[in-house]
Amino acid sequence: MNFDDYRGIWIYIEVKDGHVAPVSLELLGAGRALADKRKTELAGVLIGSGVKTIAPTLFQYGADVVYVYDDPIFEHYRTEPYMRALLDCCHKHKPEVILYGATPSGKDLASAIATDLPTGLTADTTILDIEEDTGLLLASRPAFGGNIMATILCKKYRPQMATVRPKVMKALPPDPSRTGKIVEEHIELREEEMRTKVLEIVREATKKARIDEADIIVAGGKGMGSKEGFQLIHQLAEVLGGAVGASRDVVEAGWIDHHHQVGQTGVTVTPKIYFAIGISGAIQHVVGMQNSDLIIAINKDPNAPIFQSCHYGIVGDAFEIVPLLIERFKEEIPKLKAAADVKEEIRHA
Ligand SMILES: Cc1cc2nc3c(=O)[nH]c(=O)nc-3n(C[C@H](O)[C@H](O)[C@H](O)COP(=O)(O)OP(=O)(O)OC[C@H]3O[C@@H](n4cnc5c(N)ncnc54)[C@H](O)[C@@H]3O)c2cc1C
Repeated sequence: MNFDDYRGIWIYIEVKDGHVAPVSLELLGAGRALADKRKTELAGVLIGSGVKTIAPTLFQYGADVVYVYDDPIFEHYRTEPYMRALLDCCHKHKPEVILYGATPSGKDLASAIATDLPTGLTADTTILDIEEDTGLLLASRPAFGGNIMATILCKKYRPQMATVRPKVMKALPPDPSRTGKIVEEHIELREEEMRTKVLEIVREATKKARIDEADIIVAGGKGMGSKEGFQLIHQLAEVLGGAVGASRDVVEAGWIDHHHQVGQTGVTVTPKIYFAIGISGAIQHVVGMQNSDLIIAINKDPNAPIFQSCHYGIVGDAFEIVPLLIERFKEEIPKLKAAADVKEEIRHA
């Protein structure tokens, strides 16, 4: 394998309901930095049906080139046709690095490509870097239950591949003046040869708490004592118009559903404000919320590790402090809203 033949940083662009998945834009941001360091091109690989029109958006977010496979056979994500298209692209253009979002389809596709090529794949990466001269990708991720960070290298094979956790990297602000090159690709695939068929897409009817999209998250831990005690967390979240988060111990105790779990085996969140109440601050929890803009911790143990990871900390009993906060926010928020409305009226006058 001649490593000099392999060039460019590639991002697998995930499209859902006609929109680029946020993680793909985040990866274009991260990929741009890697490509600049390596003085090479950043490319997006766009596979789907009717997706050609999406390419210019990718230029705005940092791509120099977009390889497009646009065909009805790609209407829904399926391992086989997507894998065949991406393999075709890899054989033709030989990338040095391919990054995928660590989403269900991103993980599925990455592992299929890794075994077919074959090459190395680091899963669930949270930090990425590249050696300028050798092009060696440094893919770091928490290992052994989050107790150490492992930096994983793929020294003998190309392309080097990683899946990256959503919400960890930052998308670049879109720049409408940026343009790039669209390369239309085609691969002969016949529907009758595909072993999987999509019969129906069932959308979950229950309204999931989208903690990954909330601006404010009020998260509670085992320190809330019981399911009844945990209601205080719901009350504070409601007053603030935020979502409810929880530690794994709370989920395991059955006080709340798994969709609310923040952390390594839960969701990674980056809200504007994160309240950690009665949460000890185990590393497996902290990796899921440490990039929040503002972290406020309430814990009765002054030595709780959460105080190492917060901007503001209150040492005290949650059952005394949270009701006081609820009372105060109930008074103050309507006043702030009224003031904001007045400002808005002045602006429009
Ligand atoms: C492989 C692996 C993956 C994991 N993934 C996750 C994950 O995704 N998310 C996650 O959260 N955990 C995860 N964990 C578990 C993690 O290690 C911790 O066990 C868990 O986060 C602890 O939850 P907690 O902080 O709610 O409980 P505890 O550690 O029991 O902490 C409770 C805290 O509440 C405080 N407290 C008690 N009473 C009060 C009161 N009245 N007022 C104020 N404070 C009070 C205590 O001082 C204490 O600090 C994982 C563990 C492993 C091994």
